[in-house]
Amino acid sequence: MGCSKNQSLMPIEQALSKMQSAVSNVCHAINLPLAQALGYALATDVLSPLNVPSFNNSAMDGYAVLKGDLKKASKQSPVSLTLVGQSFAGAPYHGKIKSGECIRIMTGAVMPKDVDSVVMQERITRHDDRITFIQTPTLGDNVRLAAEDMCKGQCVLKKGHKLSVRDIPLLASLGLADISVFRPLKVAVFSSGDELKNIGHTLSEGEIYDSNRYSIIALLSRLNVEIIDFGIVKDDRVAIREALLLADQQADVVITSGGVSVGDADFIKEVLIEIGSIVFWKLAIKPGKPFAFGKLTHSVFFGLPGNPVSAMVTLYQLAVPIMATLAGFDVAPVLRLQAKCSHVVKKSPGRTDFQRAIYKIDDAGQLIVQTTGSQGSGVFSSMSQSNCFMVLEAERGDVLQGEIVIIEPYNALMN
Ligand code: AMP
Ligand code: MG
Repeated sequence: MGCSKNQSLMPIEQALSKMQSAVSNVCHAINLPLAQALGYALATDVLSPLNVPSFNNSAMDGYAVLKGDLKKASKQSPVSLTLVGQSFAGAPYHGKIKSGECIRIMTGAVMPKDVDSVVMQERITRHDDRITFIQTPTLGDNVRLAAEDMCKGQCVLKKGHKLSVRDIPLLASLGLADISVFRPLKVAVFSSGDELKNIGHTLSEGEIYDSNRYSIIALLSRLNVEIIDFGIVKDDRVAIREALLLADQQADVVITSGGVSVGDADFIKEVLIEIGSIVFWKLAIKPGKPFAFGKLTHSVFFGLPGNPVSAMVTLYQLAVPIMATLAGFDVAPVLRLQAKCSHVVKKSPGRTDFQRAIYKIDDAGQLIVQTTGSQGSGVFSSMSQSNCFMVLEAERGDVLQGEIVIIEPYNALMN
């Protein structure tokens, strides 16, 4: 039975919580000009230094009036007011406005305190300085009130928040030129394996191109980290030891791929035990069973499996959330949805399965999902074709056609 053979494997939920409780933010705060702060984690709460908007202003091009003057305005009995001035954006009106008077006002212009409502210019008729209205406005119509968006002193973004494209203009509207963020995490990366060749070179017999480093570097480049590329390291105890020691001196996190299994050339685990510590290295997940988490003197270590699909799945599912904590980010909840599986999926109970899958909305508006076909951990095209993981819980057996399954659409890191 699947369960008994998987007894020594750690469930993914337990692995994630063990790792999260073993790490905390290691990055100090730096100041960056706002335009460069995209994607960084805020190092402090951001309190609004002003009211936004800072003054009552018009939401329309039109005429600012006292509602009381137009109480009786209707199509049958229009009411005319005298135009006494204008308020343009950046050029306010400073005079008095008395009952029976109005001013021309533009979008964003200061609303004088003597008036309370704005009537759209399309709703009036004008003859010289006589403006005629055929409707009573609602009190405060088309007026944007001071502080209706943000109040001075209000916390608008919290420490740890990842600055998005949507946050940058928000901070600009507060006049903030410099932002305190956590410095990027430094991540050293290397691939291990005698069979690996760098792209751009011809393969000899038995060799393959090192693709895992490209998975890791591409995904990390979406995370705003500083990448230190150590290239390919041979399946050699001394070489691996040297690479790990050097990486540990330079980085906060060391990520390797390959060499964490139980093969005769899998030295990473052994070396890690000598110069650091291993917290765990076998998980109840598929793909990705041999995933090692440990610590070096200064850094945190993730040993990804060599198989390319396993390397990417474990990087995304396990290493990324932990790196987010190390870099000072709030851990964002993962988006998981329910979808109808369009075919039978074979699975034995025991490990959480991350099948590569494609979701879409069918003609009836129902979310449906199908796998990309062959799910071998070396079949990397399955990763490239898919747009989500079909997450099959550890205890689950075969999925029947039409059964509801959980899917996890890829987030921005994967695209
Ligand atoms: P290992 O975990 O070292 O036993 O490797 C498992 C499988 O993944 C083997 O077929 C390796 O050739 C392959 N592999 C290991 N490292 C890489 C890499 N960097 N890029 C592509 N395939 C790899
Ligand atoms: Mg190997």
